[in-house]
Amino acid sequence: MIAMPAIDMAKFRARAVNVHIHAYDVYCGRAGNGYGDGYFGNYSAIPGDAGDIRVRIARVKDFLVCFRHRMGLIHSERWKGVKILGQPIEFGEIEYRRRVNTLHGALGCHCVPALCHVEVYVAWINDGPAGLARLEARIARLEVQV
Ligand SMILES: [Zn+2]
Repeated sequence: MIAMPAIDMAKFRARAVNVHIHAYDVYCGRAGNGYGDGYFGNYSAIPGDAGDIRVRIARVKDFLVCFRHRMGLIHSERWKGVKILGQPIEFGEIEYRRRVNTLHGALGCHCVPALCHVEVYVAWINDGPAGLARLEARIARLEVQV
């Protein structure tokens, strides 16, 4: 029997961090301010004050629709015609799927610990579809409180 080296699973898992407070491995906010190219940002344009939890919830739910569409999980017309960083949104984008599935470690955005779209990536990386379902359930509980 061949002894297998211990694998530190913790380093393959993802967590959300605030870029203003913590070191991060991958910047997941929007483009701008010198943080990164914004590839993983939430480009939901639902209007409102980002400090309003109801707006945050709406934008994260909107991002989840975009995420599932681009990942090829659930087709949606919601983001049809919308471009992100000059590129049209497609169902099941091979490059997006590849890049999302390599995410791990500290995923940084400006709004953590407030509800943030980065939690969609974290849920997906750590627990796949079940993680997304749990995140949705958490958001639904949050919605009835506000
Ligand atoms: Zn954020």
